[in-house]
Amino acid sequence: MSAFWSEMVHRTEPYVPGEQLNEANILKLNTNENPYPPSPKVVDAITNELKRKLHLYPSPTVDGLREEIARYNFLQKENVFVGNGSDEVLAFSFMAFFEPGKKIRFPEITYSFYPVYCKLFNIPYELIPVQRDFSLQVEGFFQSEGGVIFPNPNAPTSIYLSIEAIEEIIKNNSNQVVIIDEAYIDFASESAVSLINTYENLLIVQTTSKSRSLAGLRVGYALGHSDLVEGLTRIKDSFNSYTLNRLAIAGATAAFQDTNYFMETTQKVIHTREWVTSELKLLGFYVLPSQANFLFVSHYKVVAEDLYKELKMNKILVRHFNKKPIQNYLRITIGKEKDMKLFIAQLKTIL
Ligand code: PMP
Repeated sequence: MSAFWSEMVHRTEPYVPGEQLNEANILKLNTNENPYPPSPKVVDAITNELKRKLHLYPSPTVDGLREEIARYNFLQKENVFVGNGSDEVLAFSFMAFFEPGKKIRFPEITYSFYPVYCKLFNIPYELIPVQRDFSLQVEGFFQSEGGVIFPNPNAPTSIYLSIEAIEEIIKNNSNQVVIIDEAYIDFASESAVSLINTYENLLIVQTTSKSRSLAGLRVGYALGHSDLVEGLTRIKDSFNSYTLNRLAIAGATAAFQDTNYFMETTQKVIHTREWVTSELKLLGFYVLPSQANFLFVSHYKVVAEDLYKELKMNKILVRHFNKKPIQNYLRITIGKEKDMKLFIAQLKTIL
């Protein structure tokens, strides 16, 4: 490494994003994107903005989009912070609410960006072991020194934690911020958003990348007490006061205005998820109970890495994590029904 790099650059451990294959006809089931395109109203709104408004700066406060997101969640715009994907919102949250010298807690199996941010921002952390069935034991998160973060449903396990359990964790960390990363919540039973008006230390991070089919637009957001939102805004404004571009604002606003489309596509994904789950079980897979748009599975006979390679040779890309204790699991994104039929048919020829 160059001697001119600062201590901070040495500290980074860059995140490795999901594999991209440039071949045609790849069935891409490895990065939890939505198989359906965004609402046609999103495309109209972006086209309109593109034709008429691109010479103008976007709104630094993004009021219109924040109002739409607030309306959908029965909150006020002061409870909503927006950023370039929830990854950016999470980065700002780590900076705003977690401190060097105070250990935060997250599950040993979880979204791999959390330890990356901890190293970057010098935040120490404790990994809380998961149960044998990969579920979370809430007591492990009680009375943390510096705060708590975990996804619900958890990634990559797909397991959902009840609102009652989340409330226990929030109550038992009343002097720290508890961040619930709800990237996949629309595919699950219930969001913890209803707890925001009761608990000032709760921050919920969501995204338009999954259920709203806008991964390419990069719009994520945080919901919480107005003081938390103000903290995030101060951090953001210290970097760049125009975080979201005009096209992203127009597209995401239209997505929140077309609830019917979003509900329809979400239901289709959930329906396909249930079908794939039962098919995989018939083929001898252990499938964790999923409330997300992906499945976390292991086969009693075939080694996960071998299966990943076989599928890849057959132009189907799934995610394999080469680390203990999940090295024998695959994460499979739920695609369109016809694609998942093809996937199951392919598996039958391999197994
Ligand atoms: N949180 C979790 C748990 C995720 O799996 C992802 C997607 N990889 C994100 C956050 C980030 O999503 P985005 O930046 O697209 O909003």
